[in-house]
Order: sequence, then structure tokens, then C-alpha cells
Amino acid sequence: LAYIQFLGAAGTVTGSKHLINTSGKASRDGGLQVLVDCGLFQGQKDWRERNWRDMPVPAKEIDAVILTHAHLDHCGWIPRLMKEGFRGPIYATSPTIDLCGIILPDSGHLQEEDAAYYNKTKKSKHHPALPLYTEEDAQKSLQYFKPVAVGQSVQLSAELSFRFVRAAHILGSCMAEVTLSTNDQTRHLLFTGDIGRVLDHKVTPGKVVHSGPTEGEVADLVVMESTYGNRLHPKEDPMPELAALINATARRGAVWSSRHLPSNARRSWFSFSST
Ligand SMILES: [Zn+2]
Repeated sequence: LAYIQFLGAAGTVTGSKHLINTSGKASRDGGLQVLVDCGLFQGQKDWRERNWRDMPVPAKEIDAVILTHAHLDHCGWIPRLMKEGFRGPIYATSPTIDLCGIILPDSGHLQEEDAAYYNKTKKSKHHPALPLYTEEDAQKSLQYFKPVAVGQSVQLSAELSFRFVRAAHILGSCMAEVTLSTNDQTRHLLFTGDIGRVLDHKVTPGKVVHSGPTEGEVADLVVMESTYGNRLHPKEDPMPELAALINATARRGAVWSSRHLPSNARRSWFSFSST
């Protein structure tokens, strides 16, 4: 029987990695192994240390990655997966691929800076301290990304296909609707990724994030991270607060790439934008 294995975003809200195995065996023997999202663990040291552990499944036995969106807690472990031997396609929307082209090399650059800092201050128990992956590793991983249009069905094997439906979270973000046909049974699994709250269906000038699901997605089973499930959204319009933040940032002279910010500011930028 096919199964799903949660390799991250379980017990914590980062490190999203959900493995679908269609063979039902411990390996992909005779079936397919597909990873939905491949995120970095962030936050407390106990969790960040998990970024250094081997996957419980050999990376080279994973056939494909389906990526919901370009936040590091969903895509930031991809260069490490490649270092461990993964060589399959990484399916994502075009805007997600564009964003990954910026943030994955930047993440590699930060890993290198961290390692250099630990080597200089000798604060790490590892000698020498190494980066999880480098900027160059991240650059190399970009060639494996394959663009998929929203709503387009992609058949990965006789048993498994998927399509993206909009998630209204960030530019390019989508839910992955996976169709699994095994033992004469067809099931739809909906991996939501992070869900946004863009409700306006009108496409206004300058609007870059589309509103929520509009493609009639189907689900027998929903896999959803419930980070904020016990909280209500504020009723106030977030625009003035966002405008004040952007104006303050512009006044400080910050530019589009976080690389030009001091490293402490960069870290807060990433934690601000990571979920
Ligand atoms: Zn996100």
C-alpha cells in the first residue's frame, strides 16, 4: 500500500518534507518516491542540527521533488538533497523558480559566512566548521528545476500525477494536488503548503499574488501545516503597517538583495519572511 512519510514540519513548523512512496515498501522498489517540499529546519539549535542528518531514505532513490513555494522552510534543503545524490526533476511554478534563483544561492552564501565565522571565532565543536551547502552548490541545483503551469497535469508514472492549484501565500505559491491510482483505486491527496489570505479576485495593476484556490481542486485527504490554526487573523488592513516597514527599509538604503544587509539584519529578514 502506498504511504506518506513526514520527514519534517512535524513537531515543528519548518523543514517541510513529505515523502510519497507508491510501492508501499521501505524502498521505492517497483514504485515511485516523490518528495513534496524540501525545506530547511530553522529556529532552535536542536532543530537546525537536523539539517545535518542524512535522510532516512537515500536521496538518490527519490525520483522527483514537487515544490509548493519559495520560502526557505519549504525549499532551502534542496541543495543539500543534491549533495546527497538526488538528481531528479524539481517541479515548481515559474515565479517559484525565479525566486529560488535568488534565495537559494543567497542561503548558500549565508551558510558559507556562518562557517567562516565559526572558524574565525573557534566557537564550533567541528574543526573546520563546514557550510551545509555553498552558493555554488545552490547555483548547480537550479538546473534541475522544471516549470509547471498552474492547472497543468504532470504524469510522473502510471500511478502518480499532480497539478498545482493556487495557494494565495506568496508570489508563485501553489498547493500540490496529487492523484494516486493504485490497486484499482484513485485517491486525491492535497498538499496545501502554506495558505495565504488573498481574497480579491480582481487582478489589479501591480498585483502579484493571486487569490486562493480557484481551479476546483479535489481532495480525499488533505495534508496541511496548522501553525496558526489556533489564532484569528487581525481585522485591520495590513497595508499601512507594510508601507511603514518598506519606507523605513528604503530610508535605511537597503536594496533588493539581502546580501547587501549586515548579517544580523539578514537573519531577521529571513525569519520575518519564512512562514
Ligand atoms: Zn511560506
